[in-house]
Amino acid sequence: MIFDVLIAGGGAVGLAAAALLNDAGASVCVLEPRLERDFPCGPLGLRSYALTPAARRLLEVTRTWSLLDHTRIGQFTAMDVWDAGSTGRLEFAPPPGHQGAMGYIVEHANLVAALAASVATRPGVRIEPQALDAVETGRPATVVTVAGQRLKARLVVGADGAGSRVRAALAIEHAHVSYRQSALVCNLRVADPHRGVARQRFLPTGPLAALPLPGPCDCAIVWSLNDDEAAATLALDDQAFSVALAEAFDGRFGDIVSVSERAAFPLARARAAQMVHGNCVLLGDAAHLVHPLAGQGLNLGLLDAASLAECVGSPGDAAWPALADLRRFERWRKSETLAMLAVTDGLHRLFQRDEAPLRHLRGLGMRLTDGLAPLKHLLIRHAMGTAGDVPALLRPPPRR
Ligand SMILES: Cc1cc2nc3c(=O)[nH]c(=O)nc-3n(C[C@H](O)[C@H](O)[C@H](O)COP(=O)(O)OP(=O)(O)OC[C@H]3O[C@@H](n4cnc5c(N)ncnc54)[C@H](O)[C@@H]3O)c2cc1C
Repeated sequence: MIFDVLIAGGGAVGLAAAALLNDAGASVCVLEPRLERDFPCGPLGLRSYALTPAARRLLEVTRTWSLLDHTRIGQFTAMDVWDAGSTGRLEFAPPPGHQGAMGYIVEHANLVAALAASVATRPGVRIEPQALDAVETGRPATVVTVAGQRLKARLVVGADGAGSRVRAALAIEHAHVSYRQSALVCNLRVADPHRGVARQRFLPTGPLAALPLPGPCDCAIVWSLNDDEAAATLALDDQAFSVALAEAFDGRFGDIVSVSERAAFPLARARAAQMVHGNCVLLGDAAHLVHPLAGQGLNLGLLDAASLAECVGSPGDAAWPALADLRRFERWRKSETLAMLAVTDGLHRLFQRDEAPLRHLRGLGMRLTDGLAPLKHLLIRHAMGTAGDVPALLRPPPRR
């Protein structure tokens, strides 16, 4: 049997691509050795994402949004960003005409279980609990699993994360630069209600974000620190950690009532030289890694999946997928990814600089931007994934 599409990786990006491509008429096989089908229960997990309204729309059109456990999802309707090194501050509200939240805080396990449940309703998607080992290019391409099984497909998709085996098998160059920083994550209960505001303070050591969880006083923390500071902070007991965190956050959330366990993730920026190689395509972290300061990594990957489905269309004659369509996909996503890499990397560098003139300029720039409503609306629309070159499937429905 020849599949229309074989996807390596059943994380959020791979499963979203499976649903979208199957809805366009493709038979799909997903290789995923560790599919997380179980919905989470008990305390909220540490790995959560800020998803944009565009990502929500993707989850709606793939009939996934209704399958999520909504009691475990936080949302924000305002954003407050300030600079520890200057008087700079930016407050964002939903732009005119936008209905609903500006973003949703969804646990990884909740998201992947809902996508897996959604994909399971599609008879045209097969999930194989195996890892990809090698790719033999050709039309069709042949994929070899670690267990030695050979599977043929007209289109091969690498959605197998930052350490992509597909990327390595195709010998695609990969520029990877460590920030020598780690993101320390945990969940907190604090004294002051968050009131649906996502907050981020830029410190010279890196940004510290507090994202609203479903409980009125609960938030998810993402705190970027140099690797040695992250290791030392991770080793603190709850009391000492709470003191350090409250100080880093300017005491903005009142007393810390309780703090969960902590984890740290190494931070890097990376980009594959090609997103397309013959009839093989890279999506999500396999193709690009961005600093999490703007909460955009997964959102970018989900847009990759929607753009691919739009570019390749329904499987038709033997020439599907057309090379010209794959090239269009690559041009489209490369320019969006490069822009996001430049923004996140630029912000990371800008806020790390501690020279007084630069700090003053930064503060002035933020204050000026804060006073320019049209510019702020444009910025926030881009951050919400509703401005720019958005895949047709994800454009908000016209308002009546
Ligand atoms: C601290 C932190 C906070 C973040 N916050 C946000 C946020 O708020 N918003 C946001 O949009 N993004 C955020 N990100 C980025 C986000 O985590 C990633 O962009 C996203 O998880 C990438 O999804 P993916 O499906 O491409 O890869 P992954 O989630 O890594 O999934 C890859 C899948 O491929 C499978 N796999 C691996 N090798 C093989 C193989 N050989 N064969 C078959 N399958 C294989 C793996 O088992 C895995 O399931 C954050 C990242 C960090 C570090």
